[in-house]
Amino acid sequence: MLFSIIGLTHITTVKADSKINDYIISNKIKPAAIQNQEGTFSEWTGYRNGVGHPEGVVVHETSEANVTAQQFTDRFNANWPKLETYVHAFVDDNKILNIHNTDYAVWGAGPTANARYVQVELCRVNSYDAFARSLSNDAYYIASKLIQYNLPDVPGQTVISHAQASNTWHETTHQDPVYYFSIWGYNMDQFNDLIKTYYNNLKTYGDVNGQNDHVIKVHNAHGDFVPLVGINTDNQVVPIENRAVANDSVWYTDQSKTVDGVTYRRVSTHEWIAETYKA
Ligand SMILES: [Zn+2]
Repeated sequence: MLFSIIGLTHITTVKADSKINDYIISNKIKPAAIQNQEGTFSEWTGYRNGVGHPEGVVVHETSEANVTAQQFTDRFNANWPKLETYVHAFVDDNKILNIHNTDYAVWGAGPTANARYVQVELCRVNSYDAFARSLSNDAYYIASKLIQYNLPDVPGQTVISHAQASNTWHETTHQDPVYYFSIWGYNMDQFNDLIKTYYNNLKTYGDVNGQNDHVIKVHNAHGDFVPLVGINTDNQVVPIENRAVANDSVWYTDQSKTVDGVTYRRVSTHEWIAETYKA
């Protein structure tokens, strides 16, 4: 019998070893929308690889309590020539404000990092829930930028902390966000886990929490593959003998149909998968 297993899309879901990540993921916290609020920064410089070619994102935190993303944005817009600093975005528990087109570099972490990375500032908040929401917004912004620029998510390479930039290139001394994270019992590795989860879910489902009615991930607990069936014009289910799909593969589905109490999801013109195989 000719038998082929199709669909080897493999999805890695990171189980982040962090209570805060668990809180974010289990509560399906929904990040804010990214608002483009182009600011006053008037230095239009490309990255070392050119305009529109950042190599990743630097994670910052503002090191100042009780100042919102909007307040920081207003301050930077008024004072950047004097402060000699500007970033691409400010994020707090309610808002993601993108204030400079990320195709162009800003002044956030020294010349080397500035020539390579998008720079985002996390604002300090005062409650556990607000901290979780601010991380969700920050991780969503970072994952979205990696995807926008076709970059892989490689912790320490395409996502770095300002501390890592300082310690690598010695052009700044800032160690953010290490201390602020530690106040909440959090660290950069855990944040990278959250970013990876969001990145994978966004790529697969277009949603940080992996919720999308048009995408189905399938798994057969009793075998290495998931069977496909046909549904004929008399609404009868017909087994497909020579094709199946791989366990944990992910499929776009455009239709569903119920036959004898079982719901089937269409994954190609004449092929359906019983929803009982939904992973
Ligand atoms: Zn910083």
